[in-house]
Amino acid sequence: MIKIYNSLTNKIEEFVPLRKNEVSMYVCGSTVYNYIHIGNSRPVIFFDTVARFFKYMGYKVTYVSNFTDIDDKIINKAKQENVSETEISERYIKAIKETYKKLNCLPHDANPKVTENIDGIIQFIDFMIKKEGAYVIDGDVYFDVAKITDYGQLSGQTIENLMNGARIDNNDKKHNPIDFTLWKRTDEGKRWDSPWSLGRPGWHTECVVMIDNIFKGPIDIHGGGLELKFPHHDNEIAQSICVHNHKIANYWMHNGRIDMGGEKMSKSLGNVIWADELLSKTSYQAYRLLILNVPYRQPLDYKEELLVQATTDFEKINRTYISLFRKIDLEFLEMKPANGIIDQELLDLKTAFIDAMSDDFNTANAITAIFTATKHINNLMRNGKTEADVLKQALKLLDGMLWVLGINIELERLREEEKSLVLQWQQARKNKEFIQADILREEITNKGIQL
Ligand SMILES: [Zn+2]
Repeated sequence: MIKIYNSLTNKIEEFVPLRKNEVSMYVCGSTVYNYIHIGNSRPVIFFDTVARFFKYMGYKVTYVSNFTDIDDKIINKAKQENVSETEISERYIKAIKETYKKLNCLPHDANPKVTENIDGIIQFIDFMIKKEGAYVIDGDVYFDVAKITDYGQLSGQTIENLMNGARIDNNDKKHNPIDFTLWKRTDEGKRWDSPWSLGRPGWHTECVVMIDNIFKGPIDIHGGGLELKFPHHDNEIAQSICVHNHKIANYWMHNGRIDMGGEKMSKSLGNVIWADELLSKTSYQAYRLLILNVPYRQPLDYKEELLVQATTDFEKINRTYISLFRKIDLEFLEMKPANGIIDQELLDLKTAFIDAMSDDFNTANAITAIFTATKHINNLMRNGKTEADVLKQALKLLDGMLWVLGINIELERLREEEKSLVLQWQQARKNKEFIQADILREEITNKGIQL
């Protein structure tokens, strides 16, 4: 049974999919006016791991994440560089997709963009106006939060306390200071014709419309960073209640933010580490371990030591993996007939890994389970009597667990001449012919063979 902490109810709940053995997921993506930093990469890596785990458990997963390609920040950047908004957005969409790939994320099933969904957004807003959940003033359209019950449910706020905290602006045309913008009349940047004005949509409508458009109804999981809970996600829910009378997703999941030196990481504070910058210094495997070493709901305070730790962690896993792979490659080959022996401890380790991931995707405990597995596998390899079958099972187990965390270790089988070189080296060591062994070892290293 997979359990999820549902931000909507603030409870750990059993995951029951809308359709048997299927999972539909939507995660809010980036506003495309810059590269992504490690804070932005946390939901990317974490939700990729969630999708992978569901797949590992046999679910058919549909995972969608958008690109927000209409925004003031994009307009400003375009002005600064004296280029079109499209040039800015397309440049960063391309770069961000490259970063996703470098982080070894599985391709999303779709990456919708706001600019491709304007007709749907206009229809959706029009429908809210007809249902009296939204109103038009001077070409702007606002959502009327007073028209729905439970506004602010996700962030645990009521209309009253939101009103107390709201900035009261006497010039405000809105019915209520906390009503949010659905359509904005504007003379600046990209704009579209609508029944209300020449303008552009507000941010909160795009995700609801894209989800509708792709999934044609409610979904299982809606995710994003904690900072999106309010107002973005509460506003998505409010619109969906107005139009469909459902709350978009049965499970809402939010990952904690990444700080640096106890401070919020932000472009304006200038304490940002770009994902690509970190990837040029470290492997994506260590990067993913760095992120996944901390349970997703906890804040992650980035320090250089965490990266050092993650690098060491990956080295340990990598060493065991390579030794195991080579041992099977060199000694047992595929030719050995299967004898059906099963190592109970390996089965228990698989269960421990699945239990950790099923416990609200506790990746930290899942990584611990991988380390317990590598220790056991090292013992199996040291024990000369271990059956070929058991080692093959161990490799399969390790492959599966690492796949869930998005960590691949790519090794090629050795060619015959490489194999005989390694076997000669092993024999020389056994015979204590150290000079000969050193020469062979050097040859092996020069050929780029990892042992
Ligand atoms: Zn969104």
